[in-house]
Amino acid sequence: MEITEDIVIVGGGIAGLTTSLGLHRLGLKSLVLESSDKLRVTGFALTLWTNAWRALDAVGVANSLRQHYPTLPRFQVNSSLSGLSSELSPNSKGGDNKDYEIRCVRRKELLETLEGELPRGAIRYSSMVVSIEDLGFHKLLRLADGSTVKTKVLIGCDGVNSRVAKWLGFENPVDSGRSAIRGLVEYPDGHSFQPRFHVFFGGGVRFGFLPCGEKSIYWFCTIHSSLQHDVEDMEENPLKMKQFVLRKISKIPKEAADVVERTKLDCISCSPLKLRLPWHVLLGNITKSNVCVAGDAFHPMTPDIGQGGCSALEDGVVLARCLGEALLERPREEEEEEYERIKKGLEKYAKQRRWRSFKLISTAALVGFIQESDARVMTFLREKLLSGFSVGAMWKMADFDCGDLYHS
Ligand SMILES: Cc1cc2nc3c(=O)[nH]c(=O)nc-3n(C[C@H](O)[C@H](O)[C@H](O)COP(=O)(O)OP(=O)(O)OC[C@H]3O[C@@H](n4cnc5c(N)ncnc54)[C@H](O)[C@@H]3O)c2cc1C
Repeated sequence: MEITEDIVIVGGGIAGLTTSLGLHRLGLKSLVLESSDKLRVTGFALTLWTNAWRALDAVGVANSLRQHYPTLPRFQVNSSLSGLSSELSPNSKGGDNKDYEIRCVRRKELLETLEGELPRGAIRYSSMVVSIEDLGFHKLLRLADGSTVKTKVLIGCDGVNSRVAKWLGFENPVDSGRSAIRGLVEYPDGHSFQPRFHVFFGGGVRFGFLPCGEKSIYWFCTIHSSLQHDVEDMEENPLKMKQFVLRKISKIPKEAADVVERTKLDCISCSPLKLRLPWHVLLGNITKSNVCVAGDAFHPMTPDIGQGGCSALEDGVVLARCLGEALLERPREEEEEEYERIKKGLEKYAKQRRWRSFKLISTAALVGFIQESDARVMTFLREKLLSGFSVGAMWKMADFDCGDLYHS
């Protein structure tokens, strides 16, 4: 079976659904092809910063999410080696507090909220794209079930192992040599933690936890892969992950370690951390003819500044705006003219996103290095001044406005 669609988005994650919703708000129809048989949720929760809330405002879903997730106005930064602790807020780093917004949101709810605003049939599940062919003004996608989809615009939102990015000529993302263990713990009667983002450094790991609504706490522990080698098969075994994290955070206060202790094993997971080398983003083809990439397919980064998902939301808004400018309010015209306008629209998107993505990937890698390093000099510097620098860098990266669906 072959169908034809004006705009096809490969991948129904944060980037794909936001782009589709942005286009829908502008009156443009798109089809999302998702390989899973339902929304694919990995990692339980994520932090969404100011820039993400601006993007969610632009596609009209921020307020319904805000109702369930309190904002976290302060950071509690702790050294698990010396026991030193400091409290930081955007004001203390010179940021503009009134515009500062960070909330921890369940991934499932974020995806369901985006999906819930899309028209019926906008997402086709169990639809894995296996190849892309160039037909001149169109692209032809072959799916694993044997069907084909022909399209005028192809958008790759297919994550870190993106086929579309490969088609554009990007090299594969590289392994950062680090992993993240994450968990979500439920408190059916409500938890008693303050609305704070707690982070602990030291011993070669970075551990943190933060409230995700009134009744759950999300936690994470990033580690260097060399530490993980001591524990065989850890990536497949949540009990080993839990024991490992508890050993690594044995010096932190009991109430913090208790968050991990009481997490159920089916609410713990481990993922290797990959990134695209920043200069590949600077020099690579974000777009070619009528094809482009967004989200992790474009700029996978380490999670040290919590910006992968936030910037996927930004991409979605900017891409929808650029395509809207290219496709709306034009009389029907020859295929070639339309193709040229699409091409220009995608080039405009790439221009707006290239430098921002470069900065995000580089900052994340630098902050990760500072926060996790176990070397003596770095530990000394971190205890004295660098943890404040890291948190300041996070706020700085989050203080960005991608604009709305009509204006940049
Ligand atoms: C440990 C960790 C912690 C993180 N914490 C944060 C955080 O706090 N804040 C934050 O903003 N970000 C965070 N991130 C990053 C964030 O999770 C990602 O940047 C975000 O999920 C990317 O969304 P995406 O839609 O681009 O890709 P994905 O979520 O990977 O979605 C891609 C989709 O494409 C589908 N797909 C793939 N290939 C095909 C194909 N061939 N055909 C059809 N469908 C396909 C997949 O099934 C999937 O549904 C974290 C990441 C990690 C690893």
